Amino acid sequence: MDIRIGNGYDVHALAPGLPMWLGGVQIPSENGFVAHSDGDVAIHALCDALLGCLALGDIGHLFPDSDPAWKGVDSKLLLARVVDLVHAKGYKVGNVDITIALQRPKLAPHIAAMRAALAPILGVPEDCVSVKATTTEHLGFVGRGEGCEVWASALITK
Ligand code: MG
Repeated sequence: MDIRIGNGYDVHALAPGLPMWLGGVQIPSENGFVAHSDGDVAIHALCDALLGCLALGDIGHLFPDSDPAWKGVDSKLLLARVVDLVHAKGYKVGNVDITIALQRPKLAPHIAAMRAALAPILGVPEDCVSVKATTTEHLGFVGRGEGCEVWASALITK
């Protein structure tokens, strides 16, 4: 079996009055992410992990923020395109693991919805989609509520 792994990382700044999309679901919050797309920083990190498996570059390269086609785009569509690239190379997604660092709101009530949103796009059962959340104990830019940081790992098989 041909097995490949990849990792991804992304950060978005928070600002008041914007929608907060994270892991494919909208989170009730007074703040949302500043972005060219819908700002779903978790999906962006996940896309980069999948692209990293196949050394296909990064989503900034694939979906440049200079291109008006991606303005306000639903990041789930970007993820679907990346999964298409994985399939085109003859691979399927094995499992993914995502860690989200956000001071608030608490994400625990939304983890199940994120896994349910991502699994069908990835073409895997929900138990192959791990989403974890942490605060940074009020330390750093995440802790000050200035932004959100996400790490993602992915494994694909042929
Ligand atoms: Mg991003």
